[in-house]
Amino acid sequence: MKEEKLCEQCGSKMTGRLDKRFCSNQCRANAHNANRRQNSGEQLILNINSILRRNRTILRQASPLGKTTTYRQVLEIAGLDFRYFTHTYRTKGGNTYHFCYDYGYLLLEDEKVLIVNWQPYMEKS
Ligand SMILES: [Zn+2]
Repeated sequence: MKEEKLCEQCGSKMTGRLDKRFCSNQCRANAHNANRRQNSGEQLILNINSILRRNRTILRQASPLGKTTTYRQVLEIAGLDFRYFTHTYRTKGGNTYHFCYDYGYLLLEDEKVLIVNWQPYMEKS
């Protein structure tokens, strides 16, 4: 009985040993590189997810009831990374709140920060 297998990288038919996964060294290398690229993308996502989660925790701890004014420096010292947020909410007045999931903040004058909770009406704009 003749067994036939396809190269996992290019899909060409292979003969010979049945435990081979790739038809050539080139295909093996290409598959390896594609896998590495994929993994580094996954790692980046994991890293950003953990930053977002930490940002949310810091905002929640700084404002357990929502609506608190604090200083930007206080949040930075706690470890909040202002570069990362999940979404924004722009008010009619033109202010932009940055959210980490359900906790958000508005940068005020004098390095102050207003922390708020996500509200259902914010969904609509
Ligand atoms: Zn191949």
